[in-house]
Amino acid sequence: MRVVVVPVLSDNYSYLLIDDEKKIAACVDPAEAHLVLAKAKEENVEIVAVLTTHHHYDHAGGNAEMAKQVPGIKIFGGRIDKVAACTDPLDHGNKFTIGSIEVLALHTPGHTKGSICYFCCVPGKEKEGLVFTGDTLFVAGCGRMFESTPEEFHHSLVTVLGALPPETQVYCGHEYTVKNLQFATAVDGGNETLRQMIDWAQEQKVQRKFTVPSTMKNEWLINPFLRSGDDQMRSICPGCSPVEVFATLRKKKDSF
Ligand SMILES: [Zn+2]
Repeated sequence: MRVVVVPVLSDNYSYLLIDDEKKIAACVDPAEAHLVLAKAKEENVEIVAVLTTHHHYDHAGGNAEMAKQVPGIKIFGGRIDKVAACTDPLDHGNKFTIGSIEVLALHTPGHTKGSICYFCCVPGKEKEGLVFTGDTLFVAGCGRMFESTPEEFHHSLVTVLGALPPETQVYCGHEYTVKNLQFATAVDGGNETLRQMIDWAQEQKVQRKFTVPSTMKNEWLINPFLRSGDDQMRSICPGCSPVEVFATLRKKKDSF
């Protein structure tokens, strides 16, 4: 199992999830189909499926073109998310395979009502797994809350994604890391891990390198939205519940 990052549009990430033995791949959010198809050709793999994290155009906007270019391709997406060209609607807990890779659909409402994150691993090797999180979980941040409540979004992040092994590699939908880290530092100033990471992320940006993947373990250390139950975060909303802290953080971030 191997992941190739394919930057598309201005700051979106598409990905190829590759089974090298079978020379097949799934692509994640191929918003610019031609770029993803070209990368697959370069890697000498055949794309057999699209994993769509949510219905927004900068994620699902290439699905119709993928369907046209690759006859018989399976296009996965959340059942209630109205994903373009979807052939295989998914509910929470659905599993399917891409070659020898098992893919588990996690319904994670928050950014959109039907957002799906995809946990992928070789069966029996869950600790070597990875997750594609779209605009649900970013490195050091989370997506805007368009179609759900703070309760739902908090549950998606802390309980659903939070249940993944800490070693899980996190591949998100946008390169927003520097901005997210700036916000995180503003609300969690005493966090040493954060401060070290911001220098690194800025350097990656200068060198036009990616800041993905992160890991769940790292996100638990730096991501203010995941940490909304921590004492450090509670000081921004004294006496509040973790969900209320989450809602306050999300509102602050919207105007940051
Ligand atoms: Zn989106």
